Amino acid sequence: MRLCLTCRYVSPEGAVHCGHCGRTFGARLCPSRHPSPPDAEYCVQCGKANVTDATRCLPLGWCTRALTLLIVLLALRWAFGSAPSLLQGMWNLSDWISLHLLGISLCHMRAVLLQIAAWFVALFLVSYLLPGSVGGHVRALLMRGAGVAARLARSVSLAIFRWLCRIVGGQRKGA
Ligand SMILES: [Zn+2]
Ligand SMILES: [Zn+2]
Repeated sequence: MRLCLTCRYVSPEGAVHCGHCGRTFGARLCPSRHPSPPDAEYCVQCGKANVTDATRCLPLGWCTRALTLLIVLLALRWAFGSAPSLLQGMWNLSDWISLHLLGISLCHMRAVLLQIAAWFVALFLVSYLLPGSVGGHVRALLMRGAGVAARLARSVSLAIFRWLCRIVGGQRKGA
């Protein structure tokens, strides 16, 4: 998948044009599909003038893989409280990456997630003290939130599973 950095539209893997704004990724193309640099006014091979507009893009395949790796490390870290030094090093590295890429450290993320879980349980218990219909609404809302979280967790674990399969299978397709 490719994210167009001009209009933020996500195009499928291997796309040449952005599906929303029609710009070409990385290079300008003339009617004969010759690639030219993004700042070229004319095709550098045949000299035709009507070259496409180019846009910069972000290959999302790479990003989701990096994110999945972070999640795996997070899960490992959680599973093994006192991690071996190699794992500790990887944890520190991913913590650093997360801190600089997302602005939050993984420790902070874990604290926030635990806090959310605590709030969820607390609200659920409190909802039984509220009058019938209000409590029911609160519980329905909480369950909907839990459903979303469960779907998210499922797709994340599915992504991890696919990622592991690809590593084991050794199939390397270009991102
Ligand atoms: Zn676009
Ligand atoms: Zn050309």
